[in-house]
Amino acid sequence: MTYHQTLNMTASSEHAAIPMLAAAHQIRGFERDTALCDKPFASLWLAKAYVVPAGMYGCQVWSSGSLREGDVFRPTLQALHLNFLKGTLGVKRSASNWAVLRECAHEPLHFYWFRAAIRFYSGMLSSNSATLEQPLHADLKLVRRTKTSWASDILRAFEGLRGCDTYTQALLQGLPICYSDFTADLRFRMRKVWRDIADINPLESDNKLVTYHSWFAFQADSCTRVRNGGAPLISPRYLHLELPKHVMRNVSRFRLRAHTLTVESSIWRAGDSHCDKCSCATVQNEVHVLFHCQDLFVCSLRRKYSFLFFPFCQSFSIEAPYIPHALPSQTVFDFLSQRHNRLCHIILDITDYFLAGEDQQQTNQPNDLAGG
Ligand SMILES: [Zn+2]
Repeated sequence: MTYHQTLNMTASSEHAAIPMLAAAHQIRGFERDTALCDKPFASLWLAKAYVVPAGMYGCQVWSSGSLREGDVFRPTLQALHLNFLKGTLGVKRSASNWAVLRECAHEPLHFYWFRAAIRFYSGMLSSNSATLEQPLHADLKLVRRTKTSWASDILRAFEGLRGCDTYTQALLQGLPICYSDFTADLRFRMRKVWRDIADINPLESDNKLVTYHSWFAFQADSCTRVRNGGAPLISPRYLHLELPKHVMRNVSRFRLRAHTLTVESSIWRAGDSHCDKCSCATVQNEVHVLFHCQDLFVCSLRRKYSFLFFPFCQSFSIEAPYIPHALPSQTVFDFLSQRHNRLCHIILDITDYFLAGEDQQQTNQPNDLAGG
C-alpha cells in the first residue's frame, strides 16, 4: 500500500488504479490473442479474477472512508470497474450502474472492500502478534475522541445493516464479527435498491431499474435469497452464447435501456415518447416494439419469429401478429427468459430497425477501461 504524505486514504486508494488498468489491458490483449472477443462471459470471469483483486490491494486500510451505504459509486476505482463492464457489454457510459453490475453478475467493489476490512479486523484480533494488536486497540480508543479514525469510519459504515447494533458493540468491545453473517447482511443491504422498486409497475415508471428488474433480470428463488442475504447474481443466457459482437451488444443495449427508442431519447431530446412507427399513440418502449407495435415491418418480423410468441401469447396469430392489450410483467419476463437462441436475433432485427443509423455513432465510442 502507498501512503500519501497527508495520510489521505482517497489518494492511497487511487494508486490501485494503475494495477486495475494494467489488469484490464492484459485481459483485452488476451481476448485478442485467443479470439475471445465474442465471448463476453470469459471477459467478465477474467475481470473477477484479475481486475477486482487488482483494485483491492491494501483496501482493508484505505477503503474505510468509502464503505457507507450511499458511497458505492463514489470511488474512482468503482468507475474504472464499471467502465470495463460497460465496455464488455458495449453500452454507453450513462447506462444504469446497478443494472450493469447485475447484468454482468458482478458485485460492486464496495462489497469486496467491506468484507476484506472485516476479515482484516478479525485477523488482527486472532493474531498472536502484539504489533498488530496494539494499533487496533489504540484505534478503537480513538473512536471517542475523533471522527477520523479507521474504527470510526467502520462504525459509520455499519449503518443500514440489519446487524448494525451487534457489529457496533462487537467492534467497540474488540470482539470478533461473524464473517459469513456479515457477508449475507452486506449483500442484503446492497439488494435494497431492488427491493425498493420490486412492487412498481414498469408501465407506470420511467425508472430504468424498474423496467430492468421487472422484465429482464434473473430472479432467484426466495430460499436462496434469505440464506445469502440476497439473490445470487447470475449473468443472463445470451452472454454465454457464441454470438457475433454486434448481436450481443444490441441485446445488451435493449435490456439495459441504453438505446434510443423514444422512451429513452425523449428524455434528452425533450421530445415525444410516443411511437413514431405506428398509430397506437403509446410510449415506444421495449415491450411496445416487441409485442404491441403495429408497424408493418415489425409485424413481419413477428411472423418470422412466431414460434417465440406462441407459447407465451395466447392472442397472438399469424394474421394479427401483435398483442392489442397490455401484458403482465411476468409474461414479458417469461418471454425474454425463454431458452431459445433465436430470441437474440429478433431483438437484433427489431433494434436494427428502430435504431437504424441515428445512434450508432454515439454508442460506438470507445468506452472500455483498457482503452481509457
Ligand atoms: Zn409502434
